[in-house]
This record gives sequence, structure tokens and C-alpha cells, in this order.
Amino acid sequence: MRIDLHTHSAVSDGTDTPSGLMHAAAASGIDVVALTDHDTTAGWGEAAAAVAATGVALVRGTEISTRAGGISVHLLSYLHDPEDPSLVAMLERSRDSRETRAQRMVERIAEDLPLTWADVEEQAADGATIGRPHIADALVARGHVADRAAAFRSLLHPSGPYYVRYWAAETADAVAAVRAAGGVPVMAHPRAAARGRVVSTAVVAELADAGLAGIEADHLDHTPDDREALRALAAELGLLVTGSSDYHGTGKPNRLGAFTTAVEVLEEIERQGRLPVLRP
Ligand code: AMP
Ligand code: FE
Ligand code: FE
Ligand code: ZN
Repeated sequence: MRIDLHTHSAVSDGTDTPSGLMHAAAASGIDVVALTDHDTTAGWGEAAAAVAATGVALVRGTEISTRAGGISVHLLSYLHDPEDPSLVAMLERSRDSRETRAQRMVERIAEDLPLTWADVEEQAADGATIGRPHIADALVARGHVADRAAAFRSLLHPSGPYYVRYWAAETADAVAAVRAAGGVPVMAHPRAAARGRVVSTAVVAELADAGLAGIEADHLDHTPDDREALRALAAELGLLVTGSSDYHGTGKPNRLGAFTTAVEVLEEIERQGRLPVLRP
């Protein structure tokens, strides 16, 4: 069984449609895939409709933007009620703030380079969760940078003059909101240091007390040492360990199934979650 529990579609900052993602998963020999677009569940219906045709089982999920002690933490939620009012409000607030923030970043960049909000809108599907990747794509289309990675290293870098922050829930509050909505909260790429500061093990321990179910140890942004340390931390704190690709289509080098999760872990996630895994 090949189980990949972290992927993105064009409903956030991936490049495949949700249905295209399901077909790509089938072509990559994946048995179970989680669709975890940033701060939205809008792709779930289309992905679910492709389960039968592709033979790929679907875990419905979301990657929630949160912050702990001012440090950005991505929290994966699996199998939660997509209509839970508190969780819906949290995701809506962060999507709204992301859009305002992206507009402000474009205004700042436009003082120095030709770039418009329409350029960015052209790169995002209708209703998609807007992020820096869409600004990156607009910068590529304008010929200002070669690709997303180059944009993130330069114009979009958090330490640069164009960066603007957006609202995100406190991680502990998000963990509680996910549990209240029947979801299973797993911290995404806890040691992805290339993206910015990462939280200490003490913070992970606090989140475990607050209801965190697991941590994503196996991820492209982790070194072998990171992965080993996270496994040890999970064992110490009684947390599940997941592995996943964080696939974004052509937007990132991450390939589907590059890292996978054990079947026993998926079974435990399904046991704790309110929704079933959708099987062919
Ligand atoms: P934002 O949440 O808008 O600040 O943008 C962060 C998103 O950008 C993350 O979800 C990543 O998927 C994506 N990202 C971060 N670094 C890179 C990179 N070097 N290349 C492509 N995408 C990236
Ligand atoms: Fe992303
Ligand atoms: Fe992430
Ligand atoms: Zn992700």
C-alpha cells in the first residue's frame, strides 16, 4: 500500500485540478492520497468524484495556516466535518487575510517592477486560496524571475522588503478547533528550516497535550537527521508519524509518493476521524 497524505491542487497553490491530481496519483501507483489544499475544502467534491474512475482512495484534508509563538506552523487536518462553523470561520478568516496580504505585496513590488493584481488573478483558479506561489507565477509570466523557487529566494522572501504577513490562528487553537470538528491534526514538515524559523520540541510537546495526533517526519524539506529526531520525538510524546510528498504539481519539485505513510497510521487516523476514507 502506498499512502501519500499531503498534496495540493489548483484549489490552492498546486497546478493540477483535484480530478487531475487523482489521475496523477493513479499513474504514480498511489493507493491512498490525501488532498490537503491550504485553508480550504473546496476541492473535496471533485476529488471524491474521481475515486471510482481512478481506483485511488481519498482522505479529505486541509493544510491550515497557523502560528505558534510567531512562528509559522502548517497544521494538516484529516477527515473533519467541512461544515463545522468554528473551523469554517477560521479558514475563511485566513483566506481573506491572505488575499488582502497578497494585494499589499503586489502593491509593494509594483513600486519597483511592472506587476498588477490582474497578473496574479490570472495565475489562480477561481476561488483558490491565494498565496505567494501565485505571485511567483505572475512574476514568472512577466519574465521577472525564472521559476517559483527563484521568486521565493528573492522578491518573495520573508526577510525582503516586499513581504507582508497574514492572519493565522494560534496553532493550539487550531488543534482544538480541528478536534472539535472531528478532525485529526498532524503537524506538517515541523523541521522545514529553509522556509523560516521552526518550533522547538517544547512547543510540539505542548501541542501534543492540546490534542495533536501526529507529526509529518518524512518530507522532502527534512534532512535524514531531522527525520530521525522527529521519529524519536513522536515515540516520546506518543504521536503518530506520517510521511508525504507535499506535491504541488509543476509548482514544486516534490513528486507524488516520494514519501509515504504506514497503513497502521492511516487506520488510526481513520479511527480518530469523523469522516471515512473514500474507497473505490
Ligand atoms: P504563503 O503561505 O502565501 O506565504 O506561501 C507559502 C507557500 O509557498 C507554501 O505553501 C509552499 O507551498 C510554497 N512555497 C514555499 N517555498 C517555495 C519554493 N521555494 N518554491 C515553490 N513554492 C514554495
Ligand atoms: Fe503550498
Ligand atoms: Fe506546508
Ligand atoms: Zn503543503
